[in-house]
Amino acid sequence: MKYAVYVFFFVFGYSIYAQNGYWQQAVDYTIDAKVDDVNDVLDGKETLIYTNNSPDTLKVLFFHLYWNAMKKGTSANQKLGVFNSIEGDSSDDDFGQIDVLSVNINGEIIPMKVFETIGQVPLKQALVPGANLTLTVVFRSKIPSCFNRCGKNNASGTDYTFTQWYPKLCRYDRQGWHTDPYFGREFAGTFGKFKVNVECNASFTVAGTGTLMNKKYLAKGWKNLNPSEPIKGKTNWVFTADKVHDFAFAMDREWVHQSQRIDSIDFHFFYNKNYETQWTNLATKWQKSYAICKREFGTYPYPQFSFIQAGEGYMEYPMCTMLEGSYDFYSTACHEFMHSYFYGIYGSDENLYHWMDEGLTQFAEARVSDIDGIKENIRAQDIAWGFSTDEPISTAANHFAGDYSYFYAAYNKGQLFAEIMQYIIGKEAMRQGFGKYYRTWKFKHPEPNDFVKVMEDASGMELTWFQNYWLNTSKPIEIVIDSVWQTPQGLTVRLDNRGIPMPVEVEITLKNQTKKRYYIPIDLTNKSKSEFAIPSKELPIWSCALPSYTFNLAELRLKEVEKIRINPDGALPEPEEGGAFVNLN
Ligand SMILES: [Zn+2]
Repeated sequence: MKYAVYVFFFVFGYSIYAQNGYWQQAVDYTIDAKVDDVNDVLDGKETLIYTNNSPDTLKVLFFHLYWNAMKKGTSANQKLGVFNSIEGDSSDDDFGQIDVLSVNINGEIIPMKVFETIGQVPLKQALVPGANLTLTVVFRSKIPSCFNRCGKNNASGTDYTFTQWYPKLCRYDRQGWHTDPYFGREFAGTFGKFKVNVECNASFTVAGTGTLMNKKYLAKGWKNLNPSEPIKGKTNWVFTADKVHDFAFAMDREWVHQSQRIDSIDFHFFYNKNYETQWTNLATKWQKSYAICKREFGTYPYPQFSFIQAGEGYMEYPMCTMLEGSYDFYSTACHEFMHSYFYGIYGSDENLYHWMDEGLTQFAEARVSDIDGIKENIRAQDIAWGFSTDEPISTAANHFAGDYSYFYAAYNKGQLFAEIMQYIIGKEAMRQGFGKYYRTWKFKHPEPNDFVKVMEDASGMELTWFQNYWLNTSKPIEIVIDSVWQTPQGLTVRLDNRGIPMPVEVEITLKNQTKKRYYIPIDLTNKSKSEFAIPSKELPIWSCALPSYTFNLAELRLKEVEKIRINPDGALPEPEEGGAFVNLN
């Protein structure tokens, strides 16, 4: 992917990344949120400064109103599904919603046109390139029961979880507006600064995105920096965050707090003491996992991260994660932390490119959670279940036929995209590629081409063919051994490929238990891999024009051979009906 050289923008101290013509919007939020724990209502007032770094003139702004997916009777609610099941036996108290009470631009009230989870605000004065505008939005939210990532009284006992809780500006980027309705799946955001003031009953502890400005964190809890602030009645919690694209927080009266500093990062743990064993396990192991993360994927770039026992399921937000956390969830906690990278600092559109978040996070989780190094070889077959039912991975998250095909595409095929790419280019090139991805794309909005391009740069291989096959089709990887025979030239083996072209590794085990490794490059990469765990002899190139490939090994005789196996390290998925090896005993 290449872009023409464009122009530099500097706004509010951000350099707006004009390299190669790239631009991105910026939005800064100041939000006052008052939580009424008697009526389960949040009253909010937000002021946004939105800067148009695009070359386009904007005549309308769009907002996400996520909590309307929890509103009784909406189609978003029906699609979300989880509320369908409770609609019959739940009370009105379980449902939630967000009402925008006013939008004010330059002293003028502008009506917001709302359909369920998306609101639009027409601009009387268009926002021209390079200009910014200030909006003030007043809203009131009815807090739902905790069924979809947010709400009151979650399963592990946390009082309130506020995620997707404020009117959030939709993203405008090189593809225009991203106004995807919310059905409980994925997100897209705009980077900026947040200052959030939470006013609540003084009995609550508040934790979330950002750095707490008006209290000090001690190992056993927050200490008030302002002695004049009342201990009873209401209290304020002021958080700031920079270079994030969302803000989430949770509140509880009884959390245990722990913290640890690694490098100069404060890692916080907020949990219900009933789950102390699981949470102490996380805190104890965390330093080892973070060390792997830093080595493989780059330094965590924010001053703090909070693991918070809150929400429904396990969900990532900038600088924090909400974990139900009631079982041994160590690898899941690693997964959610690694979203700090593939969701947090790489702000890809997760609806369109869910695999860039979930799939790459799965790839990272498998490494970061492996603190004892026992998963040295990750077997693709363990990840590749369900090929027969999948839809192309390029299907948008909201629009899969069903949950399984979405999960399979985003998580499993997404992880396999990175695992197979590592098989093609080698581990060291992959690590170099992630390093370049970090240096080039952090705090930006990378798209699939951007990820593939850094891997091409790191490896010197052409990879677009694999990107296209893996993301845009549902063709399998299906290479089999067709036949083996003896010729005057030596041992002869014929392979068939019924799916995606792919370099092939072959292991031949002789009857004397000697093993020999071979590598068959393909024309599409323009280059052979040079990094092998076990030394391998390179064979002639397999052209993608031909479905079959025959090779001769003059140094071997059929009668010496015990077993021939392709894909000996399990790095590729294999056909369910077999064919990846032959035993010649
Ligand atoms: Zn995830």
